[in-house]
Amino acid sequence: MLSTGTHLDLRQRTGRFAPSPTGPLHLGSLVAAVASFVDARSHGARWLVRIEDVDTPRTVPGAADSILRTLESYGLHWDGEVVYQSRRTALYEDALHRLGLAAFSCACTRQDPVCHCADGLPAGRTARSVKVRWPDGESFVIKRADGLFAYQLAVVVDDAAQGVTDVVRGADLLDSTPRQIHLQRLLGYPAPRYLHVPLVTDEEGDKLSKQTRAPAIPNGDEATLRTALQLLGHAPPPSADLLEWAIAHWDPSRIASTQA
Ligand SMILES: [Zn+2]
Repeated sequence: MLSTGTHLDLRQRTGRFAPSPTGPLHLGSLVAAVASFVDARSHGARWLVRIEDVDTPRTVPGAADSILRTLESYGLHWDGEVVYQSRRTALYEDALHRLGLAAFSCACTRQDPVCHCADGLPAGRTARSVKVRWPDGESFVIKRADGLFAYQLAVVVDDAAQGVTDVVRGADLLDSTPRQIHLQRLLGYPAPRYLHVPLVTDEEGDKLSKQTRAPAIPNGDEATLRTALQLLGHAPPPSADLLEWAIAHWDPSRIASTQA
């Protein structure tokens, strides 16, 4: 169920919640936040909040503040300062340099079906993005054609820089995990432990997301928090302090989901 990094420092375990500020918190993102918070606190770990606004064109003004206010209203109090990826470009640039020959320039656009740029740019083409080699001759983007760093690189650099040992997040990011582990190896970073929690779906079975216009949750609503814990397989008794109870009784094996 869990993959444990070989360099895990048990004295400084650290969890994190890393929302993208593209809208207010919805039930699906609350579930991920509660899971990472309760998991961290059940280990006596630090819990950090990082705003993943590396994709600046997608950032909605005011969304980050709204998310932070909602987290506080649910008693999800983080340690230290909130980190904003948009202010950490120098760190990502440094990591890009450290990747050295593992990274290569790519000239492809959406019209190019297959990328062969790892063998050198095709004649007459100019570099647009930066990619990293991936097993089986594939590759993925770490710096985009618009000059922004890709999510995959930013996450890996930040998790390492912040000493994150426990990544608890939505199962929609399961596909990203092997790429992130690949980048961690290339950069010599320790691998955190990963736990992926189930996605919350609407009546049509679609994942709740800003794209499907999932409704914002009310602030500090006990019934909503209880629902989030139930979706994580935890049912506190009626009179319990919900988060306190969940921290004391946290058992990730009760979470029904695909695990990495
Ligand atoms: Zn290419």
